[in-house]
Amino acid sequence: MANVESFDLDHTKVKAPYVRLAGVKTTPRGDSISKYDLRLLQPNQAAIEPAALHTLEHLMAGYLRDHVKDVVDVSPMGCRTGLYMAVIGEPDEQGVLGAFQAALQDTANHDRPIPGVSELECGNYRDHDLTAARQHARDALAQGLKIQETILLQR
Ligand code: ZN
Repeated sequence: MANVESFDLDHTKVKAPYVRLAGVKTTPRGDSISKYDLRLLQPNQAAIEPAALHTLEHLMAGYLRDHVKDVVDVSPMGCRTGLYMAVIGEPDEQGVLGAFQAALQDTANHDRPIPGVSELECGNYRDHDLTAARQHARDALAQGLKIQETILLQR
């Protein structure tokens, strides 16, 4: 089976909430695509409830694009402790940290309907929790976000 970058990260040594450059790939035409680990909760200590994570996905998908150029994708982590973001190019981590904080602030302030929530637009439109999503955003901001370096597992 192919190697997966995130399985090489020592999840016991990171300190959430944080931004981490998870990897950079170069396409055959020479463009780079960067992937960021946007972690909200400490791995193996807590997990975001599925409905809240689903709402965070809908809100952060839009708000991160407001603050970061050329976003390819924003997706929730299966372990429910954060989100991944893929971006064209190699934006510096300090800029991504600021954008993550700004998008979390937008999410914490979000008091309108959740975007994309209808049977036509979403694959599980009943499964959302705006109150909990806003609380997770507030909690992460209150704890203070930092840049996390990758700490590889010693195998
Ligand atoms: Zn959805």
